[in-house]
Amino acid sequence: MATVTVSGNISVFLLDIEGTTTPITFVKDILFPYIKEHLEDYLSDHWEEDECKQDVHLLKKQTEEDHRQNRACAVHTVDQTVHTDEEKAIREVVENVLWQMAADRKTTALKQLQGHMWRAAYNTGKIKGEVYQDVVPAIRAWRRQGMKVYIYSSGSVEAQKLLFGYSVEGDLLDLFDGHFDTNIGAKAESKSYERIAERIGCAPEEIMFLTDVIREAKAAEEAGLNVTVVLRPGNMELTEEETAHYSTISSFSQLGLTGSA
Ligand SMILES: [Mg+2]
Repeated sequence: MATVTVSGNISVFLLDIEGTTTPITFVKDILFPYIKEHLEDYLSDHWEEDECKQDVHLLKKQTEEDHRQNRACAVHTVDQTVHTDEEKAIREVVENVLWQMAADRKTTALKQLQGHMWRAAYNTGKIKGEVYQDVVPAIRAWRRQGMKVYIYSSGSVEAQKLLFGYSVEGDLLDLFDGHFDTNIGAKAESKSYERIAERIGCAPEEIMFLTDVIREAKAAEEAGLNVTVVLRPGNMELTEEETAHYSTISSFSQLGLTGSA
């Protein structure tokens, strides 16, 4: 009962993550709150470790840079509850990180510390990558039919591997032939999709790209890829025109391959 039939010319699935394999709320409701809630404990526990020292060093350099550029920064108030220099230093880092996150900044310093905190959280089972129930069975079926499956997400390849390596359904990294992030180019630029096809070693027409975002769908289409738009709870709604133009599915199980039941 497939609603979209994939022609025999297609040999590769290219999958977006947020809004496609994974609820769009995962980053906002799970990953970011985790940082806010555990930042102070994480810094206390890892303060003496080289990696943490480097993270803090990078944040300090960023703060210095911000001061030079006269950017508004976190206001340091006198905190009566901290006594040691270490506590004070940790509190300063916490304030800085929370301020950067509230301002939705994307500095390397911030991303690096967040990445290390998430890695520790996934490693210890405190966070598990969310994947819609229909995703794994469908990918397994595609693979049995000889299809290749790749991920393309604006989250770093490292973050993608954590999400799927420590998912609610266990380690899923075996399901994928490779990962792409914005190092190959932005997701709304058609050049990125041409490069991906080149890197995979196939024609753009052999790829089926699944995404929830129309800008990405357009860019992929321009590059010659096949596109199916994935409708999931919380995703942006399509206009009538978009609905008429794109094939849409609300579950991966609706994507059938030619010759399959
Ligand atoms: Mg998406």
